[in-house]
Amino acid sequence: MPRSPSIDTKYWPHKKYFEVYHRSMENPEGFWAEEAYKLPWFKTWDKVLDWKPPFARWFVGGQLNASYICVDQHVKTWRKSKVAIYWEGEPGDTRVLSYSTLHREVNRFASVLKNIGIKRGDKVALYLPMIPELPIFMLACGRIGAVHTVIFSGFSAQALADRINDIGAKILITADGSFRRGKLLNLKEIADETVKFTPTIKKVLVVKRTGSGVSMKEGRDLWLDDLLGEAEAHVPPEPMESTDPLYILYTSGTTGKPKGIVHSTGGYLVYNHAAYKWVFDIKEESVYWCTADVGWVTGHSSIVYAPLSHGAAIVMYEGAPDYPGIDRWWDIIEKYGVTIFYTSPTAIRLFMKYGADWLKKYNLSTLELLGSVGEAINPEAWLWYYRNIGEERCPIVDTWWQTETGGIMISATPGIEQLPLKPGSTGLPLPGIEAMVVDENGEPSLTSEKGYLVINKPWPGMLLTIYGNPERYAEAYWRKFPGQFYTGDYATKDSDGYFWVLGRADEVLKVAGHRIGTIELENAAISHPAVAEAAVVGKTDPVKGETIVTFAILREGFEASPTLEQEIKKHYRRVIGPVAIPEEVYFVNRLPKTRSGKIMRRVLKAVASDTDIGDVTTLEDEASVEEVRKAYEELKKGL
Ligand code: ATP
Ligand code: MG
Repeated sequence: MPRSPSIDTKYWPHKKYFEVYHRSMENPEGFWAEEAYKLPWFKTWDKVLDWKPPFARWFVGGQLNASYICVDQHVKTWRKSKVAIYWEGEPGDTRVLSYSTLHREVNRFASVLKNIGIKRGDKVALYLPMIPELPIFMLACGRIGAVHTVIFSGFSAQALADRINDIGAKILITADGSFRRGKLLNLKEIADETVKFTPTIKKVLVVKRTGSGVSMKEGRDLWLDDLLGEAEAHVPPEPMESTDPLYILYTSGTTGKPKGIVHSTGGYLVYNHAAYKWVFDIKEESVYWCTADVGWVTGHSSIVYAPLSHGAAIVMYEGAPDYPGIDRWWDIIEKYGVTIFYTSPTAIRLFMKYGADWLKKYNLSTLELLGSVGEAINPEAWLWYYRNIGEERCPIVDTWWQTETGGIMISATPGIEQLPLKPGSTGLPLPGIEAMVVDENGEPSLTSEKGYLVINKPWPGMLLTIYGNPERYAEAYWRKFPGQFYTGDYATKDSDGYFWVLGRADEVLKVAGHRIGTIELENAAISHPAVAEAAVVGKTDPVKGETIVTFAILREGFEASPTLEQEIKKHYRRVIGPVAIPEEVYFVNRLPKTRSGKIMRRVLKAVASDTDIGDVTTLEDEASVEEVRKAYEELKKGL
């Protein structure tokens, strides 16, 4: 089996992947029905797909329950005494939950929800840190048919209130706090501030995590522990319609106002169960660690629904990646014997900055497969990950997907068969996914020609709608190219059919008549030995249309200087060509990123063009916008 990133296409048509893929294209409904049968249903469907564009409904008439699939089915097998969750708190405290413990807890939590009046169809807002109670509450909601919306615990009261009000959540579940970089984060205080502006919230349920002592409002606030005392040990799983919503989740807000994405129960679970087998070859004996926060779609699918539907063990870590030292993650991998590790390019680049020496003291030999998600991974980071974490033994799956797609859409699929890997490419579409690159008119682009990434057919993981706004749903995803799902990303497809994501379509630069994706330009910058991370934006220019502005973070040991700036410009010319020479290169210490770790180029664009920054409620750290602006102004003065 080829395990190296070398490319040999000679025997591809005979590969199993193509056999499965072609089968999925010839008879999509038969194909998806076969995948659906791999899950336990209370009642099978009458119709596989009801497609009234742009609305797709999957497994219509079928009934199932998410918590039954993720928990109950396992406690009927030997897996009842097997680990479901390895949890590690930032201070070093740990908890290990078997499937039978998880089952007991999900039932008790479901009983608590019922006892405080939560019914099928009600919306439950979960504002919790990375503690086991978060997945338990998600599963408990699914058990009784309530719809959860998880709001990342790093968000402000404003961001939390906006999301609660958008869906009219009935209850807010939070914790007394959490540990982050050794400090106490008081979530309850933020929740108190939030509920002043959320008229639909009648009760606030509080999980005890830190024991730090928080104020409780009589009649409104309830301790989970008190309610658990009265909880029933068994709550029957509600038979949910396949087309019932399982959850609502807001997009990261990288490009603007976050959208409330609604996912179904049946289609979402079938799709993710299949995708995690194909992409990660996940098994019941896998120890699967996804480092994302449950607050993002990656966390929903990769920490909760997909691994648990397979009966695997998940690792969940509360704290910061580099706390108390930069070796925290590698210590966790060794400690729990992680076999599949899934993280983001941002994290990889953070570790690259420190070099690989400190990795040597850890035994990472249990790792079998590595994954990347969230942004394009530049080839330098890919190779660093492959060599130093995967020890040249583990394939890397670069998985392209979105909150909207519900699951991974384009990626290597070693669970079907390992095909050659190309660093920087997300690979081939998953079975059942008809991905394409098209031009402005919706016509297929030529091989290696840039265009818009679209999906031709509906797939089971596809969003149902944008909550409360079907018009925005139709407009955002289906208006540009009627009949095709518009992803909003820019990409190419090479002669082997591999996809290369080049950035967001609305951030593409038009320089002297050429269209260049931000990722292409950023990869060029990062391939310079002095650059650790880079973000590229366009600035309107009366002559060229747009000029390129690069913001760069330097690696340890390099100093900003005009000479280095010139060198980087020359490097661009070498790597991409004269058209791609940035007009300006600014050295900064940080880049504005969303809470999910994605660069907010629109903020940089506003800084570069001196216009309004807009909504930054999803921004990681407001200070970084100011810092970028300051660096920019100082440099401008010096020129
Ligand atoms: P918003 O839609 O609110 O602007 P967002 O798009 O950042 O936020 P997500 O749904 O979390 O919210 O992110 C999906 C996007 O992330 C994709 O459309 C793509 O731009 C990027 N992305 C995710 N995975 C990859 C990958 N493997 N390679 C390249 N880009 C990726
Ligand atoms: Mg998006």
